[in-house]
Amino acid sequence: MQSKNSNIRFLIIMAMHDEAKPLINAMKLNEQGRINPNYTIEHYSGQTSGHTIDLIVNGRCSVYNVDQIGTQVSTLCAHLGIEKFNPNIVINAGTAGGFNSDNATIGDVYLSYPAINYHDRRINIPDFKEYGIGQYPAYNCSTITKALGLRTGIVTTGNSLDYTEQDMAMIKSYNGVVKDMEAAAIAWVAQQHSIPFLAIKSKTDIVDGEHPTEREFLQNLHIASENLARQAVKVIDWLTKEGI
Ligand code: SAH
Repeated sequence: MQSKNSNIRFLIIMAMHDEAKPLINAMKLNEQGRINPNYTIEHYSGQTSGHTIDLIVNGRCSVYNVDQIGTQVSTLCAHLGIEKFNPNIVINAGTAGGFNSDNATIGDVYLSYPAINYHDRRINIPDFKEYGIGQYPAYNCSTITKALGLRTGIVTTGNSLDYTEQDMAMIKSYNGVVKDMEAAAIAWVAQQHSIPFLAIKSKTDIVDGEHPTEREFLQNLHIASENLARQAVKVIDWLTKEGI
């Protein structure tokens, strides 16, 4: 437990530049360049009420010229960020798919609780099955969500924007309601370092809705990222006042 008002070091990890821009602006963070010359991961930093914010974005792939998304880069990003900034809490902020079956709407912001799982690591051998799913623990945010009126749910991670029937069966089996491509990878790294992990995810698309995910994602990325920034600032503010 971090005592109230002492310097909390927040590490915020984000996949895409367009997702991160509103939060970087809202928190008045300064660009610090790459954290390692071999990787595209970019660092922004600042202070809030005497607490330290380090935000890292995966950066753009130099081969395909797109944002680096997914679990591969996220594992590395989390490792490098934790080693460099020694945070008290790791936050993965980003966008995600929601579900009609959960009454989700575009722009809704969810906090990860009680766990973050993988839905595309199928290993049908005793014990490996559970290992594949992961079930990484999430920071207990129940008081924050009550105070801020946010929803909680199981975040479910895979390396595809779409899903297979098997992915969906897996997601339903543990009632995953926030579908993304990064959170479980970062949660695993945080767990190895015994650092609390929290995901804050804003819905860009409805996975079980009628529109193609990629179109919905692009249409709603801006509004979802604006909502994400607004709520992430409130969550961080709450944590600085109440402690971790
Ligand atoms: N087509 C986009 C690529 C973004 S992929 C583009 O051209 O810019 C989706 C990103 O948003 C990932 O980082 C993922 O974490 C998140 N995301 C949003 N909706 C998702 C969904 N339905 N399933 C999985 N990830 C989703």
